Amino acid sequence: AEGAVLIDGKAIANTIHQEIAQEVTYLWNNYGRVPSLAVVIVGDRKDSQTYVRMKRKACTEVGMKSISVDLPADASEETILDHVMELNADPEVIGVLVQLPLPKHVNEERVLNAISIEKDVDGFHPLNIGKLCMKGREPLFVPCTPKGCIELLIRMGIPLKGKRAVVVGRSNIVGMPVAMLLNKLDASVSIVHSNTADPKSIVKEADIIIAAAGQAQMVKGDWIKRGAAVIDVGTNYIPDSTKKSGHRLVGDVDFAEAKKVAGYITPVPGGVGPMTIAMLLKNTLEGAKRVFLQPENAV
Ligand code: NDP
Repeated sequence: AEGAVLIDGKAIANTIHQEIAQEVTYLWNNYGRVPSLAVVIVGDRKDSQTYVRMKRKACTEVGMKSISVDLPADASEETILDHVMELNADPEVIGVLVQLPLPKHVNEERVLNAISIEKDVDGFHPLNIGKLCMKGREPLFVPCTPKGCIELLIRMGIPLKGKRAVVVGRSNIVGMPVAMLLNKLDASVSIVHSNTADPKSIVKEADIIIAAAGQAQMVKGDWIKRGAAVIDVGTNYIPDSTKKSGHRLVGDVDFAEAKKVAGYITPVPGGVGPMTIAMLLKNTLEGAKRVFLQPENAV
């Protein structure tokens, strides 16, 4: 057979949403509580507004409670911190997420540090990241997009242990945590970044490729080992005169070339994208279970 198996992230994310909805019902029936996720947004960036709307909608669709905190673009750092503290202290709130990026006058590190690690459903708190990197430690939450990449590999039955993996990109939100996760799962991981000499030769070695550089169609067909599993995180808009919008969404992988050599590949859109919110819900569910299943919290 010719061509890679398509990894249908949209379908897998749908399945996960259904699984979560069932567990939410179970929790309600047995503990009389519903998981609640607080999403804080500061300012009116259009892309952030869209992401936040999608997160809140997904939350209610699986039967969880969505708590909205909408602050103006000129909200002070102290005001944001006050809201985070209040949500940290509220026993009803399971997860606290502050949509990034924050306005320039706000110290993002300070705000992320303020989120209780028990409620850090985005998994960006340095303590959770630290535990992710350490042997024998388990973070309370793992960042959603990286977790989604791994979930796709696991659900497709792609083995990780002892395999060579390459991650293109090393950002705090995608590249670095996904590399650490692959390492935890006993893959042997290389990281390619903007200073890497001859990235092609490194990518070509890999059984598993995670592309998260934000560079349109950077990973070419001849960079890919035959049969490799390719997870494309990139979301890049390139000009396309055949589209009414004048542009088109592509990944960091040259899909048309790659699908001829890869064993498995995610499309863009419809691959990693839908998994991010599915993993946010999963993190919230896991957080809720930790809280609800403690006997002292049982109703
Ligand atoms: P960043 O811009 O924060 O990080 C990009 C990383 O890629 C950096 O580590 C950078 O290296 C590296 N890089 C840049 N150019 C090259 C190059 N030419 N060769 C090798 N490495 C390079 O991006 P993010 O991690 O936030 O996002 C990456 C992509 O994933 C983006 O397209 C983004 O839109 C997408 N994304 C998708 C999500 C989803 O589907 N749900 C969620 C989050 C992101 P260096 O460290 O040296 O600067």
